[in-house]
Amino acid sequence: MPNKKIIVLGGGTAGWMSALIFAHAWIKKEFEITLIESKDIPVIGVGEGSTPALKTFFKKLNIAESEWMGQCNATYKTGITFNNWSTKPGFESYFHPFPSQLDDKFTSAFYFNTQVRRKGSDVVAHPNDFFFAHYLAKNNLAPIADYNFPFETEYGYHFDSHLLGQFLKNKALAMGIKYQQSKISSAELKPDGNIKHLISEDSQIFQADFFIDCSGFNATLIDKTLKVPFVDYSNLLFNNAAVAISTPKQTILKSETTSSALKNGWAWKIPLTNRTGNGYVYSTDFCSPDLAETELRLQLNLLDADVEAKHLKMRVGRRESHWYKNCLCIGLSQGFIEPLEATALFLVQQTAAIFVDEFEKGQFTPKNQIIFNANINQYFDGIRDYIVTHYKTNSRKDTQYWRENAANPHLISDSLKNIYSCWGKGENLTAQLNRQNVDKYYTSMSWHCLLSGMGLFPDSTTLQRPQPHEVQIRMDSIKAFYSRCALNYKTQNEFLEKR
Ligand SMILES: Cc1cc2nc3c(=O)[nH]c(=O)nc-3n(C[C@H](O)[C@H](O)[C@H](O)COP(=O)(O)OP(=O)(O)OC[C@H]3O[C@@H](n4cnc5c(N)ncnc54)[C@H](O)[C@@H]3O)c2cc1C
Repeated sequence: MPNKKIIVLGGGTAGWMSALIFAHAWIKKEFEITLIESKDIPVIGVGEGSTPALKTFFKKLNIAESEWMGQCNATYKTGITFNNWSTKPGFESYFHPFPSQLDDKFTSAFYFNTQVRRKGSDVVAHPNDFFFAHYLAKNNLAPIADYNFPFETEYGYHFDSHLLGQFLKNKALAMGIKYQQSKISSAELKPDGNIKHLISEDSQIFQADFFIDCSGFNATLIDKTLKVPFVDYSNLLFNNAAVAISTPKQTILKSETTSSALKNGWAWKIPLTNRTGNGYVYSTDFCSPDLAETELRLQLNLLDADVEAKHLKMRVGRRESHWYKNCLCIGLSQGFIEPLEATALFLVQQTAAIFVDEFEKGQFTPKNQIIFNANINQYFDGIRDYIVTHYKTNSRKDTQYWRENAANPHLISDSLKNIYSCWGKGENLTAQLNRQNVDKYYTSMSWHCLLSGMGLFPDSTTLQRPQPHEVQIRMDSIKAFYSRCALNYKTQNEFLEKR
């Protein structure tokens, strides 16, 4: 059994999640895991929404929702509503749902209808009408049914990122992970380019066999020490800043994130049990931080209120390699695709979990480094393409920001070109995604929801009456079915209060 020393540099969500994933896999193999963080460098302190993958993380670590959710002021998330990204009549808002077993009956009807509408017939093809999670979100319901209703609906969470970090830290310490406060100023390399040890501001030396860089946008090891190049996404994704403001909690807690397009970006609204998280993600090429703050304050009716706004910068892109020499970067140090679909923690989880697999398969040598890096890069690029599509397909004309996004000449991967072409020609999108093997980053359901939710259909004035064979389902039957199913769910307020 190997006996290795691992240092995780950074105590943000990425650092603690990674440390826990490694401890879960390896602490019994006599690995010694130490997490080092600087008390002078704060964590980024945003990142309050997740995908359903976070549920798997807690499940693997055997941590019950009843244990962590209350401590992190967490709520359930059934999906994301996108407001005002499209100006197409009837498509000004759509919901990107997390999947439910109840959808199975209607998903193929949705795909069928989107294809019929793309070919010019007037059938209902708005995603909201077909997915159960939308019924949950619309009625502020939590996604967990009464015990006698045996259908699963996937869900994610909203949470306070500071409290989540604290919770994970306590768990990690209880699992035997060592903890040290120290500000790392440099690292010494061995002749072969591997990291020998880290050196702190007060000249302490920290030696290990392997180093995990979770130092956030600082990227202390992967960038400053090892100089691994950064693959910039900013010509595809313009946003490079955000401003965040908290407001009081919602009386009726919603079970969805809201993403509303504003003049130069989009604003999130995230319901927690004690407050609401709000923020505006924008591009400083089109809008100053002051203007962005004013626009967000106007949105929130807080123009003259004495409420603090937190300004952040972000860099979108990814490292060329995430595992280089004896260093792996995870979290913001490895890259960031902007927070539109709340995928950052999912990527943290994936990176750590796939690394565990590949490091083990390669007998704890760099044997599988190339496979690993290619795999993680594909995740980043695959998710990027899905996010880029929100911007590329927007139909707003009100500001230069939106017009330039739609007209962005820098496009786009071959994969995206094929997806757009397939959609435009009325071909089978699921088959296209399968052919490209990109449905593991975003599923066919997500792609169908995005492209139809943005209203990418022939102009409604040109649509023809559908032929009999083009009418596969009665919309009122879906509504009646989901309405009856929804009776088995409690509201988010009720569910969390009873817990
Ligand atoms: C506007 C915005 C919104 C976001 N929304 C979401 C979301 O909804 N969902 C989601 O999943 N993600 C979201 N994210 C991303 C999410 O915030 C991060 O992925 C997550 O918080 C992990 O950050 P991190 O741990 O990599 O970095 P950080 O939180 O920045 O932590 C860095 C750590 O490294 C330490 N450190 C740095 N340098 C040194 C040094 N030299 N010596 C010692 N210690 C050092 C710091 O002390 C700190 O502990 C969002 C990000 C932004 C910018």
